[in-house]
Amino acid sequence: MSDNDKYICRFKYNKELADERDLDDGTRHELELQYIVMSVLFDEASVTKEHGRLKEINRLVEKCETKLQELWGFDYDPSRFSYWYEIPGCVCPKLDNEDLLGISTNIYNTECPIHQPELVNADT
Ligand SMILES: [Zn+2]
Repeated sequence: MSDNDKYICRFKYNKELADERDLDDGTRHELELQYIVMSVLFDEASVTKEHGRLKEINRLVEKCETKLQELWGFDYDPSRFSYWYEIPGCVCPKLDNEDLLGISTNIYNTECPIHQPELVNADT
């Protein structure tokens, strides 16, 4: 199983959930586009080693996930973001962060090339 296969299921919208939430065709189309954007960002993250770009990708992934939440009709809630720690190259603890979904605490690995504290905080 390649890295790409591992991520592919994360980049499709869930039709059952879309039916359940009664999403219209326009919204479904936008969801498809956002998942394509997300997969392109992940692809790039898997090849680039450049810290500045990885940090930018992290920011774009966050933006994309915000949009996904909105399209799905969920309230904006960054504590439920789950793509950031799946970005290829991220070495932050995935299971711990999974456990903390919905609680506004993220656990970073200080060695993470994407989420090193100084990179995350150098945001403004
Ligand atoms: Zn990380």
